[in-house]
Amino acid sequence: MTPSVKEQSAAEGMGSPARAACEAVLERARRELPAPAFNLWFADLLPGGFRDDVIELLAPNAYVKNWLAGHHMDLMTASVREVLGPKVRVKLKIERAQRAPDAPSTTVARPTRGGPRRDQPSLDDVLGASPFPDRYTFDTFVAGPSNKFAHAAALAVAEAPPSKAYNPVFVYGGVGLGKTHLLFAIANHMWRMAPHTQIRYATSESFMTEFIKAVREGKGYLFQRQYRDVGVLLLDDVQFLARAEETQTEFFHTFNHLHQHERQIVIASDRPPQELGGIEERLRSRFRSGLVVDVQPPDLETRIAILQLKVMRDRLAVSDDVLHFIASKFENNIRELEGALLRVAAFGSLSRQAVDLDLAERALEDLIPESGQEIPAAVIMEETSTYFGLETDDLVSKSRSRPLTTARHVAMYLLRELTGLSLIKIGEQFERDHTTVLHGIKKIEGLMPARGSTYRQVQDLTKRIRARSRGSS
Ligand code: ADP
Ligand code: MG
Repeated sequence: MTPSVKEQSAAEGMGSPARAACEAVLERARRELPAPAFNLWFADLLPGGFRDDVIELLAPNAYVKNWLAGHHMDLMTASVREVLGPKVRVKLKIERAQRAPDAPSTTVARPTRGGPRRDQPSLDDVLGASPFPDRYTFDTFVAGPSNKFAHAAALAVAEAPPSKAYNPVFVYGGVGLGKTHLLFAIANHMWRMAPHTQIRYATSESFMTEFIKAVREGKGYLFQRQYRDVGVLLLDDVQFLARAEETQTEFFHTFNHLHQHERQIVIASDRPPQELGGIEERLRSRFRSGLVVDVQPPDLETRIAILQLKVMRDRLAVSDDVLHFIASKFENNIRELEGALLRVAAFGSLSRQAVDLDLAERALEDLIPESGQEIPAAVIMEETSTYFGLETDDLVSKSRSRPLTTARHVAMYLLRELTGLSLIKIGEQFERDHTTVLHGIKKIEGLMPARGSTYRQVQDLTKRIRARSRGSS
């Protein structure tokens, strides 16, 4: 039986050559690599045996071992030679001790969602058969001059995968202009029309989080299966891969694998490939190699059409001249445009009045956005907690008392409407996941037309937040 690391290290003593060499490797890696890379690949490296000019270094799992062998052999060899002499070679092994069946492990016997011989937790649980949000479909998307190419490309992908002519499809444009909507429209369409196609939607943030977690837990292969055994990969908000070098490398290989196997890739981004700072050139050139399409702010007619569709679907009683008024005031962000309609309708419902121009003007007073104003999340968190007589920490806390929950939900709603943050990023503000955030937002959307206090809270806060960000600019 292989002796455990503890036994070996004990036998060799603190000052062993293997240990000294391993420390030299760690020191150099820490110096030369960015901290996240060091933590990911080197932090768990241990010294093994040293015999016949061969030094063993022990990686926590096969995935890390293979990565180190493929990317950092030079670094490791150079640093052990500084300590042990020029003839020494490095041999990477997997650390057996951790694999012993009686070693404590977090991966054993976690309940999974049925299916035989699935002893792996998490990745599947997280990603599983997540149904895509059903309000984002092609039926609910209004095509116009500002988005017609992106719309056509998305439809082409959804109807005829894998679309070899357009692969990847790269959609870019500003916040709230329908990129995520189009990705989910593809997913929903294919979910119905091509039920045998595996569809994976992910934001680049969740791709990164899952990747890091998988490497930590020695489940890199599982992660790769999740992203490579798919017919279509929809990657949202790719700009967040900036400066995450390890994740970019992983995504590069994922991309190549899918592309070579004629699987469809659709990417959304807040800017065009050439402007993606902090992203490797080889990835950017991959992004440019297919079809690159943009979404622009919609013209007035399209904005009116979007509102009309929403009025029809939600059975709101709002006349065309009011829609025209709203559409003329909210130009740059469709999420805000929809938010404005919701508030007007809520105000009408609460005051039991027909929604006319006068009422719409009152409901939207002081709410009209300044173009190009970015509202920091911290301002929303601060204003909301102050408004409710709380500390920001209270919003983040785990307490589920009624007033706290309400304040938290209002903050989530305002973050969604007033900033470009994704649900995941909003969740981070509260140390919660994106489904919790979505639940909170829906809660407020439902309460606004029904409960005057909620409506007032949201309105008052929006005014304060907008006033403050105007004042500080
Ligand atoms: P992005 O991902 O570009 O930031 P989203 O896809 O999240 O924007 O869109 C913001 C909101 O606007 C969503 O509620 C979406 O349904 C709506 N929306 C965007 N474009 C359109 C459109 N062309 N037709 C109808 N609704 C749209
Ligand atoms: Mg989006």
